[in-house]
Amino acid sequence: MQTTIDYFGESHRILRQTVSRFVQKEIKPYVEEWEETGEFPRELFVKAAEVGLMGVCYPEDWSGIDTDLFHEVVVTEELTRSGSGGIAAGLMSHSIALPPILALGNSEQKLRFIPPVLRGEKIAALGITEPGGGSDVANIRTRAVRDGDYYVVNGAKTMITSGCRADFVTMAVRTGETGYKGISLMVVETGTPGFTVSKKLRKMGWWASDTAELSLVDVRVPAENRLGGEGAAFYGLMHNFQKERLYIAVMANTTAQMALEESLNYAGAREAFGRPLTGFQVTRHKLVDMAVLVEVSREFTYRIAAKIQAEENMVKEISMAKVFSTDICDRVCHAAVQIHGGYGYMREYPVERLYRDSRILSIGGGTTEIMKEIISKMIL
Ligand SMILES: Cc1cc2nc3c(=O)[nH]c(=O)nc-3n(C[C@H](O)[C@H](O)[C@H](O)COP(=O)(O)OP(=O)(O)OC[C@H]3O[C@@H](n4cnc5c(N)ncnc54)[C@H](O)[C@@H]3O)c2cc1C
Repeated sequence: MQTTIDYFGESHRILRQTVSRFVQKEIKPYVEEWEETGEFPRELFVKAAEVGLMGVCYPEDWSGIDTDLFHEVVVTEELTRSGSGGIAAGLMSHSIALPPILALGNSEQKLRFIPPVLRGEKIAALGITEPGGGSDVANIRTRAVRDGDYYVVNGAKTMITSGCRADFVTMAVRTGETGYKGISLMVVETGTPGFTVSKKLRKMGWWASDTAELSLVDVRVPAENRLGGEGAAFYGLMHNFQKERLYIAVMANTTAQMALEESLNYAGAREAFGRPLTGFQVTRHKLVDMAVLVEVSREFTYRIAAKIQAEENMVKEISMAKVFSTDICDRVCHAAVQIHGGYGYMREYPVERLYRDSRILSIGGGTTEIMKEIISKMIL
């Protein structure tokens, strides 16, 4: 019988220690400040790269560290344990921006774009969502028209993580007919004339990650920045979604675990009517319900990760994992705030931020409703 122990070996344990130390030293002391300012220092990317965190699970040919998927699970879990989903999301925005380059790019493009990001020198973002819609990816309107050796790009993107200060955006654009077949991916370098950050967006949670609205007016993108052939975006993006959904599920499970731990501590220490909160059966059972949900969700996610690692097609199951883990995360965080009473509503208590940060997880990387559409097509 397989247990969680089997998913993580010695190299995962060492990596966990490394990331945990990094989080304790370089992130934890500054979380409040960065959450308030809505940004963390750019040098954090370099520091993270120095301890080998940025390149985990990337081929060594492109300055990565070729490891199995569970090493990236470890990185996601430990960064989430910083208590700021925004820092984890912002620091790791390359985890959604680089895979399409890996999947579709040629050697020259990989060499140009991947190593500087994994060294922490450059910041990469992924630009799919547009003001007109995010779920309906096939309906992307940002248009790229071929003009000799260039594409002239016009349009807008929104809610782009790390978009305010990215050096390049792996962007989905329309180069042809309506629908998926007319969408291409290209690397748009943000210093190109006509590219502007039109707005830094203010958010409910993930405060420490910058989130941008981008405007593109006659931006001339070299044709050599196109990833794969015209209309090849579908393959590159599908490649991305499976892993992105796994990382979001891992974030959700870890966020829920933290909310549970905070609640166990608080309920043991706080007294009401002359006894600790754990003296009330209703509180004990609430804590048990939370523990059951977190345990089941985490085990299911690990199991699916193991199957993805074994290169099994897990589109249906990873969609299920995202639906389940993000739902239990919302429920566990809600219960955690309730157990904390009024203090759960106060900034000083970690559950307040966990509750706010949780809300994006069932929306980003494909909403719960879109996950259910995917699952329904596979089971009906
Ligand atoms: C903090 C944050 C960071 C983000 N980072 C990025 C990023 O880095 N890059 C990027 O490209 N995007 C990013 N996004 C955007 C995110 O991916 C989208 O918000 C998401 O895909 C949903 O798109 P939408 O907001 O346009 O909602 P819509 O697509 O307009 O959906 C609105 C509602 O309608 C439902 N709906 C839509 N279609 C259907 C359907 N067919 N059936 C049933 N229900 C449906 C949705 O589930 C949702 O409930 C980010 C968003 C946030 C909030």
